[in-house]
Amino acid sequence: MANPFEKPIYITSPLLPNAEDAANKISEIWESGQITNNGKQHKELTEQLEAYLQAPHLSLFNNGTLALLLGLKALGLTGEVITTPFTFPATVQALDWNGLTPVFCDIDPITLNIDASKIEALITERTSAILAVHVFGNPCDVEQIGKIAEKYKLKVIYDGAHVFGAKLNGRPISDFGDMTMFSFHATKLFNTIEGGALSVKSEDVLKKLNLLKNFGILNPEEVVLSGLNAKMNEVQAGIGIEVLKLVEEERSKRHQLMKLYEHNLAEIPGIRPITVLEGEESSYQYFVIEVDEQEFGFSRDWLHRELEKYNVYTRKYFYPLCSDFEWYRQLESAKPENLPKAQKAVKEVLSMPYYGKLPLEAVNQICQLIKELQQSSKALTRI
Ligand SMILES: *Cc1c(COP(=O)(O)O)cnc(C)c1O
Repeated sequence: MANPFEKPIYITSPLLPNAEDAANKISEIWESGQITNNGKQHKELTEQLEAYLQAPHLSLFNNGTLALLLGLKALGLTGEVITTPFTFPATVQALDWNGLTPVFCDIDPITLNIDASKIEALITERTSAILAVHVFGNPCDVEQIGKIAEKYKLKVIYDGAHVFGAKLNGRPISDFGDMTMFSFHATKLFNTIEGGALSVKSEDVLKKLNLLKNFGILNPEEVVLSGLNAKMNEVQAGIGIEVLKLVEEERSKRHQLMKLYEHNLAEIPGIRPITVLEGEESSYQYFVIEVDEQEFGFSRDWLHRELEKYNVYTRKYFYPLCSDFEWYRQLESAKPENLPKAQKAVKEVLSMPYYGKLPLEAVNQICQLIKELQQSSKALTRI
């Protein structure tokens, strides 16, 4: 059997500028004397990201969760919001903090995104919006979701934490829906250490967001909205400017890693890569596989544990299902029998090591390891 890796291999490693570039940026901020509240770095990063993402109405935040929370608030939503159980806790917690009730909709077994064909049956008089997630960089069925929203006059919000820079049929991903949230957490492709943004369609909503993230303060004399403190500071924005310079190269490295994983894993029965290139440009955020226990011979949990013995730290992601959180269990839509595809996916997904600095050779070794683990354990169980 292959030797374990000498040093642990994790699923990601933050994209960082070199220490000298970071230090120069910090000096520049220090000399300016302004370290937060819409300073020079904040303005520059906003402009650069509006251009990069082709998102003309962009507002920066200190993290993606608060961006989403205030985005929902800015749209003035009420009652119920149809969403997916297969997501990171932040998606549904942003609903909780707005006093909105999630209505969980099952997912598509291929993309693992909300199943658009199941949304309509969940709409009631109390429904005000659809909150969908572009999971692992696979875009949702934006056409169908848009049609349903138009028919029932619902708002559409996309949690786009995984789709930085993604395009669908040549259109930037934030073209779809009323707003799209991006996360700039250290684990995301583009990061500002912690941070996030909202891209919105309406200029009025943008103005409202810029007030909401700064306590609703309009001017020194007037506070016009009940907001929060969710501003991105100058150090976050300045580091973001440096990281943005590295994003294109990171994407092309990840493209190579993805192709190599796909090539190697195609030989292993029972392993299916989830993240597929849809449309023109992927976000290259995660590389996630699904382990079919029947076909592979062993469960996802088994593979996760075995790889750990060889110093390869994969992650069960997303896990657990949001509909299984204690405070949602009494909801009709959260019942496991109503969410069969999501219940299956949550037991099968495994996020693999995936970041530009990961050598191509390591991908070969990891795939070889999976193959050997499968074969030798199968031989053992036959004895
Ligand atoms: C990372 C992530 C978030 C949260 O973003 P933060 O910037 O960490 O607050 C929300 N939704 C999804 C799907 C994520 O992956």
